[in-house]
Order: sequence, then C-alpha cells, then structure tokens
Amino acid sequence: MERFDVVVVGAGLAGCAAAYTAAREGLQVLLAERGSQPGTKTVSGGLLYTHVLGRMFPKFWEEDPCPVERAIDRNVLSVLTPTRAVSLDYFDSEFSRPPFNAFSVLRSRLDPWLAAKAEAAGAVPVYGIKIDTLVSEHGRVVGIRAGNDEIRAEVVLLAEGSNAILSRGGTPNPKPDPKVVGVGVKQVIGLPPGEVERRFQLRGIAGTQYTTLGFPPGVEGGGFLYTNRETLSVGLILGMESLVRAKTSMFEVLEEYKQHPLISRLVEGGTLLEYSGCFVEEGGWDRLPSLFGDGYLVTGAAAGFFLNTGFTLRGMDFALESGRLAGEAAVRAVRAKDPTRAGLASYRAALEASFVLKELRTYRGYPEVFHNPRLYGAYPEIITAMMHHAFLTDGSGRPHLRKLLTESHRGRASMVRIARDLLKITGTL
Ligand SMILES: Cc1cc2nc3c(=O)[nH]c(=O)nc-3n(C[C@H](O)[C@H](O)[C@H](O)COP(=O)(O)OP(=O)(O)OC[C@H]3O[C@@H](n4cnc5c(N)ncnc54)[C@H](O)[C@@H]3O)c2cc1C
Repeated sequence: MERFDVVVVGAGLAGCAAAYTAAREGLQVLLAERGSQPGTKTVSGGLLYTHVLGRMFPKFWEEDPCPVERAIDRNVLSVLTPTRAVSLDYFDSEFSRPPFNAFSVLRSRLDPWLAAKAEAAGAVPVYGIKIDTLVSEHGRVVGIRAGNDEIRAEVVLLAEGSNAILSRGGTPNPKPDPKVVGVGVKQVIGLPPGEVERRFQLRGIAGTQYTTLGFPPGVEGGGFLYTNRETLSVGLILGMESLVRAKTSMFEVLEEYKQHPLISRLVEGGTLLEYSGCFVEEGGWDRLPSLFGDGYLVTGAAAGFFLNTGFTLRGMDFALESGRLAGEAAVRAVRAKDPTRAGLASYRAALEASFVLKELRTYRGYPEVFHNPRLYGAYPEIITAMMHHAFLTDGSGRPHLRKLLTESHRGRASMVRIARDLLKITGTL
C-alpha cells in the first residue's frame, strides 16, 4: 500500500494550488485527477481575477506557454429583455497594464500550466483516475480508494469542485440546498484570426467582458460573454428551481441567448469548439459546509467558495487562495504530526483572515437578494421601457421625463415594492 503525506483529490485550481504549496515545502504529495489531463473536466466561464495567481507566480502573463488569454479592461453590464438592452459600460485602461485586474482564461490551458508547476515542485501526478471513496478508520480519514487501489495519507485534501461527492458522502458535510444550486453551461466559440480584435475594437492583449441579467425572461441567473485571444466564451448560470419552473432546458436557453440581438452580433459566424456544463452551489456564507475534520480539508468549489455580486462572478480566485491555504495547513499538521481536526483547525483561521471568508461574510445576503424574480422580469422591463420612451421620437408628443420615470413601473411593480428591493440590495452591499 502506497503512503503519502498529502493526497489531493482533483487537479483543478484549488487542487493544483494546494499540491504546489505542500510539495514546495518538501511534503510527499499525490495529485489525483479523474480527467485524462487537468482542465479536461473543468467548467468555468473564464474570468480570473488576477491577484492570487500574481502573488503566487509574479509576471505569470509573460511565461511561455502563457496560461491566460486577454486582460479585461472593458466591463459591460447589461439588463436584457428579448428585444432591448440597457448597459453600463465601464472602461479602465489601468486594468490592461501590469499587475492587471482580471484575465479571461481557458481552463484547458490554465489547469495544465498550474499542474505542471505543482509537478515541478515535486508533486506526483496521476491523471485519468477517479477517486471512488475516502478510507476512514476510527472516524478519521486516512486515505483514498480508486478501484482496488488504496492510498494512505496523513491529510486528504478534497478539491473535487462543485460536484463534491466525496466531501459530502465520506465526511459529515450537508447535501446542497436545491434553492441555491445553479446550473452552468458554457461554449467556446472560435472566430477567424483578427476577428475578435475587430469585432470588439480591441488593442494588444486587452479584452472585454459582458455580463447580462434578464434573459431568459423570468429565469433567475445571468449570462456572460468573454473575449479570449481568438475565441469567445459564452454561457449562462441559472437557478435550478427557476429553470425547472420555466420548463426549459439549458441547451435550449443557451441557443436562445446566442440569438438575442445584443449577443448574436457578437457571436455570429463563429465555430463551436467546446461545450460543457455543471452545477454551481451559490449558497454563500450561510451554507458553508464543514471545511475540515479528522484527516481532511475541503477547498475550492467543493467548500462552496463562490461569489456572485452581479458585477463580478468569482470562484477561481477563491479556489486558488483556499487551495493555497489548505496546502499550508496540511504542511503545518504533517510537520506537527497532528493531522487531527484540532491539528488542521488553523485552515479555518487562515481562511477567516483572508479575503475568502471575509468577502463571503460581507456579501452573505446576496444569495437571498438574487433570489428575487423581479430582478429577472419586472425590473429589466421597467428599465428598458423607460429608455425606449426616452429615445423614441415619433412626433406623437413625448411625455416629460419625470412622467416616464413614474409611469414605466405601472403594472410591473409598485413603488413600495421597488423601494423595499432597493433597500434590501443596498443594505447588503
Ligand atoms: C458556467 C460557469 C461559469 C463560471 N464562471 C466563472 C468566472 O468567470 N470566474 C470565476 O472566477 N469563476 C467562475 N465559475 C466558478 C469557477 O469555475 C469555480 O469556482 C472553480 O472552477 C472552482 O475550482 P476548483 O479547483 O475548486 O474546482 P474545479 O475547477 O471544478 O476542479 C475540480 C477538479 O476535480 C476533479 N475531480 C472531481 N472529482 C474527482 C474524483 N472523484 N477523483 C479525481 N478527480 C476528481 C475534476 O475533474 C476537476 O478537474 C464559473 C462556474 C461555472 C459552472
């Protein structure tokens, strides 16, 4: 039977960051991934806020192979109805200069790059192996099993992503609440060389991201479109309950989304290169599972580290940082020969001191705020109707703008309701 100091389950961003951190400190680390290569099974929209990766690997954007696509300096946030869009367009030239704010990424490039860093630090990679169960003795996790193979470890680090079967089955973590489970779907669309720059008016490595709300009408969640070097990443994350109520499928909805007049002109003529989907848990601070126990740590999306503020959609920087902190906690526990719950508790303290738990706590009310059907139906209609009448000039006697403001909500939401929602949103900011 083989024995390691640390076994990491999953070579996504959390797992690779953890394996890199622990191996660099001289621990014997096994990095196990079910995909034939890191990045072949991961699903992500692909906007990575740069701060954690930049601290781990300064100037990573200059490396060959380069793990990232475009430096996003234009952020367009749009509310949609089937025929209209009102957008907030924020351009910031600082964002396309070092140290950069965010890059679009393709996980098929980023994950192998990061796994190679872990391997170079000394981690032993095994790819194409699905870990079936955790091995426990006297209530303590002591290893993993894959088929007939059993591997023992002082610490098992669970970085298996949002479909966290081992974290939920083999450890006392709760099952996800269907109210806060989203379904994510994403396509990578190829465009001819030079077309991304032309279509989006981009210079150099600068890029644009679109985030949308309100389409499909009435369904909780939103869409995204990110520019990569020669491709686009386009997709949606929608509330599962809301999608079931709408009696539609993710496949249909994504096709309709690509036909929306704002989106269709951006993706037209493209070639479908990749298609992937998965569940996302959006429970936030109030639904965090147990993050550690005797012999194990849970990190990244498996631990529910995902934050949607409407403006930003973040899971990858949370995965990198929590993975790094889990790797450090495993090093401390192994060196102290105390891989018990008490010996691993410093992980929670480190997460509390980092942006991971600080920001999840700050935005703890957000899952509830976004659980509001008016955000996806009535409000996009009100805002776009107001803009429609503000611009429409047909000689029929344009009403005063004040009247437009007070009348566009009629039949959609009362002023009291709007005021209450506004208070709720600003109260959780
Ligand atoms: C549609 C969509 C869009 C998103 N957009 C963004 C975005 O723009 N920006 C952002 O920051 N975040 C985004 N996210 C969230 C982000 O993708 C995740 O938070 C992030 O990928 C989590 O990283 P991770 O390493 O924890 O898990 P993952 O990246 O999911 O990696 C888990 C790894 O574990 C492996 N694995 C699982 N089970 C086993 C097993 N039993 N044995 C062996 N290996 C196993 C998997 O194959 C996978 O490689 C998005 C998510 C979705 C679904």
